[in-house]
Amino acid sequence: MKTFCGRANPTTGSMEWLEEGEDYDYHQEIARSRYADMLHDKDRNVKYYQGIRAAVSRVKERGEKAIVLDIGTGTGLLSMMAAEAGADFCYAIEVFKPMANAAVKIVEKNGFSDKIKVINKHSTEVTVGPDGDMQCRANILVTELFDTELIGEGALPTYEHAHKYLVQEGCEAVPHRATVYVQLVESKRMWSWKKLFPVRVEAEDGEKILVPPSEMENCPGVPSVCDIQLNQMPSSDFTALSDVVTMFSVDFSKPVQSASTYYRVQLEPVKSGKAQIVLSWWDIDMDPSGMINCTMAPYWVKPTSTLQWRDHWMQCVYFLPNEEPVLQGEELYLTACRDEYSVWYSLQKAREGENKADGGEHQAGVRVESPVCRCRAHLLWNRPRLGELNDQDRTRQYIKALRKVLKTDSVCLCISDGSLLPVLAHYLGAKQVQCLQPSRIDLYHPYELWQAFLKANHLEDKIKIIEARPELLKPSHLEDKKVSVLVGEPFFTTSLLPWHNLYFWYARTAVSAHLASSVTVLPQSASLHMMIVQFQDLWRIRSPCGTCEGFDVQTMDDMIKDSLNFRESKEAEPHPLWEYPCKSLSDPQEVLTFDFTKAVPEHCLSTEGSVNLLRKGKSHGAVLWMEYHLAADISVSTGLMQMSNEKGNCEWNPHCKQAVYFFSSVIESEILSDPTAVTYAINFDTKTGEIAMDFKL
Ligand code: SAH
Repeated sequence: MKTFCGRANPTTGSMEWLEEGEDYDYHQEIARSRYADMLHDKDRNVKYYQGIRAAVSRVKERGEKAIVLDIGTGTGLLSMMAAEAGADFCYAIEVFKPMANAAVKIVEKNGFSDKIKVINKHSTEVTVGPDGDMQCRANILVTELFDTELIGEGALPTYEHAHKYLVQEGCEAVPHRATVYVQLVESKRMWSWKKLFPVRVEAEDGEKILVPPSEMENCPGVPSVCDIQLNQMPSSDFTALSDVVTMFSVDFSKPVQSASTYYRVQLEPVKSGKAQIVLSWWDIDMDPSGMINCTMAPYWVKPTSTLQWRDHWMQCVYFLPNEEPVLQGEELYLTACRDEYSVWYSLQKAREGENKADGGEHQAGVRVESPVCRCRAHLLWNRPRLGELNDQDRTRQYIKALRKVLKTDSVCLCISDGSLLPVLAHYLGAKQVQCLQPSRIDLYHPYELWQAFLKANHLEDKIKIIEARPELLKPSHLEDKKVSVLVGEPFFTTSLLPWHNLYFWYARTAVSAHLASSVTVLPQSASLHMMIVQFQDLWRIRSPCGTCEGFDVQTMDDMIKDSLNFRESKEAEPHPLWEYPCKSLSDPQEVLTFDFTKAVPEHCLSTEGSVNLLRKGKSHGAVLWMEYHLAADISVSTGLMQMSNEKGNCEWNPHCKQAVYFFSSVIESEILSDPTAVTYAINFDTKTGEIAMDFKL
C-alpha cells in the first residue's frame, strides 16, 4: 500500500504530494507518538494502577469474576496492571496495528499471555458472544482515551458504544469520572493570538494606524483547540477574573451520551476587567470516592503540590467570541457547548426579566453551533502568527530597518505570507509597493481577505497584490519597473522548520531578472544558530523507558528507536521552546550564513566544527534557529532572545518554533576545567532546501 504525504517544498514554497511506502506513515506515527511521554508520566501510571487495583477488589468482593475491557491498550500497560491486580481475564483492544503487535509482544514478555487477549480492532467493531472477540461482556472498563481537551480523541462515542454493547450494567470504570474546570481571565498576550491589534506607525506625515478588517471583529476564530503548557505562562501575563469553577463532569461507569449538548454555570467576577479567555483543564478520579485523583491543574491552583510534567495532556485556552467588559460581583453565565469531539465557550450577562432557572438553549445568546472562522483572517494568520504580528517590539525593528532602506522613489516588492510589511513600506514613503504571497496560493486564495484588509485601511489603490508565483512574475506586474527594495520577514505558512523560511532566498532568486542592479534586500542575510542544551522535561518524549511500574516495556523503546532511525539521517523536529524550559550547556554558535543579496548558489553550504560544553549537565540535544539581519545593526531572532549567563536559563521567541535535534545518547558533562567538545557537521542542500546534521559526542 502507498500513502501520499503532503509536505511543503522549501525551494518552491508549495505543497507537494510525495508517494511514500506504507512504512513511512507508521514510522512517523511511532517516532512522533506520545507513548514514551505517557510511559514516563509517573503520576498517571501510579494512579491508574491504584484505581485498577481498587476496581478489581470491589468486583472480587462481590464474588464476581473480574473481566476487564481495556480500550486503546497501546503497550498493554493497563491490562497488565489489571492482570497483576488479580483480574481473571482482560480484553485489550487496540486499533493501531503496529501498537497491537507491540502489545502482543510486551504482554508475552511479561508473562500475561494467558490472561490478556489483544484484539486489533476499533472498539466499535468488537463482537461479544461464544464466537465473538469477547466471550462475555466485561465488568471492569479501563481506558485512557483522553487528550488535552478530554474528548478530542473520541472518548465519548467510544464510551457510549462500550456501555451499549461491551460492558455489563453497573460496571466499574477506571477512571470513574472526569471533571472539566474553567477560569475566566483577561490576557493581552493570549488575546493577541486571536485578534489583530491596531499597528501604529510614525510616518513623515503623522501617525498612521493600521486596523484589522471589520469582519475579524466578531469572528469566533477557528474551532481547533489551543493546547499549551500553561505552566510556562507567567502569572504576570494574565489576570484571573473568576475563581476556578467546575464546568461539567462525565461519569464513565454509567451510559455516556456523546450527542451535542451544553453546560452552563454561574460566575461572579472576583475582579473587574475584560473577559477574553477561558482557561480550562480537567482531572480524573480513578475511583468513585475521588481519593485517587490525577489532575492537569496549573501551578497557581494548588501551589503546594508538586506538578507532574507531561506533554500528552496539557491545558486549553479558549477564546471568547468577543471581549466583554465585566464588573466585580456582577452575575454572569458561562456556557460550554460541545459536540462529540470538541468544546467551545460563550459568556452571557444575566439580564433583567430573564428566567435564571431556565438555563435552556432557548435563552438568547447561547451559541450552539461550533465556531468557524467567517473572516478567513484566522486561516491566513494562525495563533502564533497573530501573536507575532501583534508583537510591537518586533514591528519596531522592521520599521527601523525599512526607514533605513526606503527612499521616496523606492519600488518595493514584498515576498512573505500575510505580511504587514507592504503596508509599513507604504506608510514609510515607498513610491510603489507590490506584494507576493506565494505559498498560500496553492492552499486557498487570500486575495479577497487581503483586499478587505487594504480596504479597511483605504489602501486599495496604494498596494498591489500580485497573484503569481515568483517564477511567473512578469515586467507588467511591476508596471515595467525594476524592484529597488525587496523585502520579506521572511515568513511562509508552509514552513515547518526554521530554515524553511529560506524559501525567501529561492523566491528572491526566481525574481532576479526584475531586480535593479542596485537593489537593497531586506533582510540582507540570515544566519543559522545552534546551541547544546539540557531540557528540564522535554527529553522525556524521546527517552527510553525500560520498565514502567514494574512492567518491561523495552519492546516499545526499541520500536520508537527503529522508527526514529527509519531514514538514514535523523531529523530535527520543531518545538516551541518557550513552552519547554532548557538550560544552555554551550554558547550559542552561528553555524551557517545565507546571503540574500546574491542568488542561491548551485553548491551545498556545509560546515563542520566543535562546540565546548561549558556548564555541568546532561546534553539532551541541539537547538537550532534562524536570525534575520534586516539592515546594518538591526536583527531579529526567531530563537534565543536572552540567556542568563550564570545558570544558562534561556528565553525563547514566544511566537516561533525552534528546531530540536535529540542526541541518540545523552552525555553528562562534569569537569569544566577540561570541557567536553561536541563536534558537528551541518549541510544545507540548496537543491532540496533541507538541512542535514550529525553530531559526535
Ligand atoms: N492504554 C495505554 C495507551 C493509551 S493511548 C496507556 O495508558 O499507556 C490510546 C490508544 O488508544 C492509542 O494507541 C489509540 O490507537 C487507541 N485507541 C483510541 N481509540 C480507540 C478505540 N475506540 N478502539 C481501539 N483503540 C483505540
